[in-house]
Amino acid sequence: MILDYSHTQERRLHYRLASTEPDYVQGTLYNTRTGWCPYDNKSTELVFDGFDPLDSPHGGGENLKIWSCDSCGYWQSSRTSTWWNDLATLEGQNLIEKHSMLRHFDIDSVNIPISTLRNYLKSKPNLIYRVAPKSMELLVKSVFSDFFECNVYHCGQSNDGGVDLYFVQSNKPIFVQVKRRETPNKTEPVNTIRDFLGAMMLKEAKKGYFVSTAKKFSKEAHNAAKKAETLGLVETYDLINYHRFFEILNLVHKENTPPWKKYIEDYYDLVEYRNKNRFKLKYPLRENPKS
Ligand SMILES: [Zn+2]
Repeated sequence: MILDYSHTQERRLHYRLASTEPDYVQGTLYNTRTGWCPYDNKSTELVFDGFDPLDSPHGGGENLKIWSCDSCGYWQSSRTSTWWNDLATLEGQNLIEKHSMLRHFDIDSVNIPISTLRNYLKSKPNLIYRVAPKSMELLVKSVFSDFFECNVYHCGQSNDGGVDLYFVQSNKPIFVQVKRRETPNKTEPVNTIRDFLGAMMLKEAKKGYFVSTAKKFSKEAHNAAKKAETLGLVETYDLINYHRFFEILNLVHKENTPPWKKYIEDYYDLVEYRNKNRFKLKYPLRENPKS
């Protein structure tokens, strides 16, 4: 069972003229209380409190607060934008509240978010044998995108001609085949290596990676890949087994960023995650009819 907090629920409210009743509400939050983790039933920590002042003599601005549970990673945020009129009376307020939703995934679920799967496999690599074949393809796509620092494309199931992923480097297409074997003891046989070589040649690709969760490729498989290179059929044909795949995965592993930090980075130019930050919005929520 894998826990994931990347998905959020949201409620938007709008107040006019300092009214205590919102004149507009969109969305509903269930089971929330500010500063409280509903899953652990304990108070959460205020991990971010920032203010972006409005460029106006009457004050106002936008405040973002984020609370997070140090036990389970649950988080919630409140984003308030206020503005004042010439008589220094509160004229209006926008409020966006978010809270993260706990989702459970089984390791073999095809719906599991790939970033969550990556983090999870880092500590439990042996569970890779239970990952759904399609998730495995998307996992390799994600890891290779970071490792080669480029866009890697997923070819989908049908009519892919035996190619699961491809990417382009120095104007050359590079093809990737992914095999999620169900046990570590499986030896990747020579015929799958030949099949993929055929697919590469039909597409006139000069580079290929064959990624398998098997712990080893057969001797014949290694010989076939080497021979394809020696004969100049392809420039490189790399066989990547379980150990090498995890070497690459660990190499490109990013610090496990909490989802609420990603939320801030999407919207704000800051930043230290400390109380009482001043910050600048990339996309201001404020809606000041006077300016
Ligand atoms: Zn919690």
